[in-house]
Amino acid sequence: MAKQVRIFLTCDLHRENEQVDGMATVAFGYEGKLYELDVCRDHHTEFTEALSPWATAARPYGNFPAPPEEDGRSPRRGGGRRSGAGTSAARTASKEQLAAIRDWARSQNMEVSERGRIPASVLEAFEKANPN
Ligand SMILES: [Zn+2]
Repeated sequence: MAKQVRIFLTCDLHRENEQVDGMATVAFGYEGKLYELDVCRDHHTEFTEALSPWATAARPYGNFPAPPEEDGRSPRRGGGRRSGAGTSAARTASKEQLAAIRDWARSQNMEVSERGRIPASVLEAFEKANPN
């Protein structure tokens, strides 16, 4: 006798009696809490599209902690989490590049502080104005 336990991922956004296959687990933080949600393809698209303008304007704030050990809710899926929309060259900019971006931003009357992170909106505007 062997007992088999299977974990099915179902979308969390449907009613209890409506089992829709999930295709991804999305994780996000909001107002001090971290959330995890299993979603079907449609809801995944909806979520990604709804969040992308906010995520684009937001400053990255550390990395998401490693998920807790298997709790029976979310099957591990290799490399499931993708890191946001578009990689930005300026995110790996050198000190000189950052200084250039600050100078450029000031010349555009954008607010940038002498130290610390350059707002994503400024980086994006810089990249748009200076391709390559
Ligand atoms: Zn769904």
